[in-house]
Amino acid sequence: MSDKLTSSSELLASVDQLIRPEIKALSAYHVPPAANMLKLDAMENPFNWPGCLQDEWFNVLKNVSVNRYPDPAAQGVKDKLREVMGVDKRFDIMLGNGSDEIIQIIAMALAGSGRVVMAPEPSFVMYAMIAKFVGMEYVGVPLKEDFTLDLTAFLSAIDTHKPSLIFLAQPNNPTGNLFEADDVRKIIESTSGLVVLDEAYMAFTDSDLLPMLEEYSNVVVMRTVSKVGLAGLRLGMLMGEPAWLNEFDKIRLPYNINVLTQASAEFALTHYDGLLEQTKLIRSERNRVCSALENSEGFMVFPSEANFLLVRVTKANTGAREIFEKLKSEGILIKCLDGGHPLLKGCLRLTIGAPAENDQLLSALKGVIFA
Ligand SMILES: *Cc1c(COP(=O)(O)O)cnc(C)c1O
Repeated sequence: MSDKLTSSSELLASVDQLIRPEIKALSAYHVPPAANMLKLDAMENPFNWPGCLQDEWFNVLKNVSVNRYPDPAAQGVKDKLREVMGVDKRFDIMLGNGSDEIIQIIAMALAGSGRVVMAPEPSFVMYAMIAKFVGMEYVGVPLKEDFTLDLTAFLSAIDTHKPSLIFLAQPNNPTGNLFEADDVRKIIESTSGLVVLDEAYMAFTDSDLLPMLEEYSNVVVMRTVSKVGLAGLRLGMLMGEPAWLNEFDKIRLPYNINVLTQASAEFALTHYDGLLEQTKLIRSERNRVCSALENSEGFMVFPSEANFLLVRVTKANTGAREIFEKLKSEGILIKCLDGGHPLLKGCLRLTIGAPAENDQLLSALKGVIFA
């Protein structure tokens, strides 16, 4: 028994000694359990594929050789993506196991002692987390109270910290808004660092920053198929000058896109129009939910160009956390952002679902507010 005790304290001592302090200081990315819940917390597309498409897809999967390594270049997927996204031949495409992996690859390629990653705040939490994983310093520049970009503060932070890497999510998560295109340009023009334009929500906005690749050599554009209905496949893409992507590609693990994902994505992308139809419906649902909340007391809704709405609870004596818990007890999972960042006080993030799901959400929210 005492042997066992010694070894467990030795275990803890060696974990304590060997794991880097900045990793020990982190808490793991938390994904709440969601079995049997109405899941409106993670910006997933609520729709399935029509039955006939599903059968066609299963037939494709039958011919996949899982005993073989995948095509390391995933050329078929890249060709399809180039076609549906209209990526000029001049630019390369690199794929990641989700765009999360692309963020990691870029950060690993640019990491070095004293090197800085910069992003507006609040924004996508992975920027800061991955900066820490790779030993870079992270500098977050607060947005204004209304979540518009504080250009003066951002430019002055660039001047002070000379970032190697800047992330701008357009539209931004978790706020849902786009920054002024002119402000984005001023940031790109004011830094000698690399600017990653993260267009994870491109299907829900008319904004398209891909043309910026033609104008600026310090820009790359990142996208993902997660929010258009393929989150489970884990497929993200980076587009940019071969000079950048050739370097990043050295860090990419050779078989990062598995055979099932390659076959499924290639198939799904031949039916991309169908996915875009779904995103159109989600956009109109977003506007419907937005008006319904604006017309009911108790919430302030921020403008959104994504498949979610950021709302602030304005009813006295009712906290965002309380509403989150109440909905959870009714089987509806949303995201509580209160406490995540000072600017997000009293805020909830609602992913837009299918029409009946949104009705359920709206009536649950009204139930809490009028309780
Ligand atoms: C969801 C999200 C991603 C990550 O997408 P994956 O491809 O699923 O890893 C990247 N950036 C932003 C801003 C996001 O909201």
